[in-house]
Amino acid sequence: MTATAVSTEPLVDSYGRVHRDLRVSLTDRCNLRCTYCMPADFADWLPGPSLLTTDEMMLVVGVAVDLGITGIRLTGGEPLLRGDAVEVVRLITSLPKPPEVSVTTNGLRLSQLAAPLRDAGLTRVNVSLDTLDRQRFLELTKRDRFDDVIAGMKAAQVAGLSPVKVNSVLMRGVNDDEAVPLLKRALSEGWRLRFIEQMPLDAGGTWDRSSMITADQIHAMLSEEFTLTEKPGRGSAPAEEFYVNGGPETVGIIASVSKPFCAACDRLRLTADGQVRNCLFARDEMDMMTVLRDESLSPDQIRTEVERRLRKVISDKLPGHGINDPLFIQPIRPMSAIGG
Ligand code: SAM
Ligand code: SF4
Ligand code: SF4
Repeated sequence: MTATAVSTEPLVDSYGRVHRDLRVSLTDRCNLRCTYCMPADFADWLPGPSLLTTDEMMLVVGVAVDLGITGIRLTGGEPLLRGDAVEVVRLITSLPKPPEVSVTTNGLRLSQLAAPLRDAGLTRVNVSLDTLDRQRFLELTKRDRFDDVIAGMKAAQVAGLSPVKVNSVLMRGVNDDEAVPLLKRALSEGWRLRFIEQMPLDAGGTWDRSSMITADQIHAMLSEEFTLTEKPGRGSAPAEEFYVNGGPETVGIIASVSKPFCAACDRLRLTADGQVRNCLFARDEMDMMTVLRDESLSPDQIRTEVERRLRKVISDKLPGHGINDPLFIQPIRPMSAIGG
């Protein structure tokens, strides 16, 4: 692939935010059904021909990297269900200016894939785990796969993908008694834990602000057992980081809803069906698929048009997600289809 047709001006929006972080959804499919993400019986997957091929995905990724993207996070759905996930990592890390590549996964396929992913150049792995209880895991995800997640996390550590980052969403009356146990386990296993406020991104539209466990509540729960001290230097990172009992271990709390960090947002998303979204909560998407499959265009013309569309979608980006606005409307596509 040539890198001739794009300029090197970074992707800056009209609020001065420079975009460095691209989330790429490798698939909308998943082998779990987490209650906050998908209905239990969900199977309405995108049809195969509407998904980006690896070449198409790499064209968009290559242009984005030329425009200053320095970090690529592979997500989904469950990204490791894509048959060539390891090859995708290898292709990205082989770009002339390779970005850092990380993956957000439910961990189920890490036992087989952690070592090949590391060999392909993956640097970090985030595993989502909301409970330490097997039965509760089954209730939360509708699948009896707790042991596979733990095995996957161990495999990631053995492969040298440490520290494994862990994402946990706490829900009232479901797993909100696990804040302290999760942190204790993280400290003993060497995981780097981050709690994420539940966002209105479920396919069923069941999110309810009044039952959301807020960042302040998580902080209060943890403070009953640990001394938390704010770690300075957050930058554009969404998590507020705290030293636990003086450090060096830390815990993160992502207050996506109650204390949005949109003013420092540096991310954009490419969905598995070739749409670019400038925000998780965007109502509009920028279509790349039509351009990528336009047979009347030369490869250079395609790259130029992909660049133009990337710049346009960034220039249209709103200052924030608007969840706290009374007129907020939840995006039609759930988190699994957007790429979390
Ligand atoms: N399947 C992978 C996984 O679960 O890690 C990657 C995709 S998943 C959509 C990415 C992240 O989004 C996970 O950490 C998950 O917990 C989080 N997530 C999904 N729905 C959410 C919601 N409604 N609010 C907050 N986080 C959510
Ligand atoms: Fe699947 Fe991840 Fe959504 Fe859970 S959060 S259903 S693992 S995509
Ligand atoms: Fe960025 Fe949108 Fe998330 Fe705010 S809600 S941090 S603007 S992606």
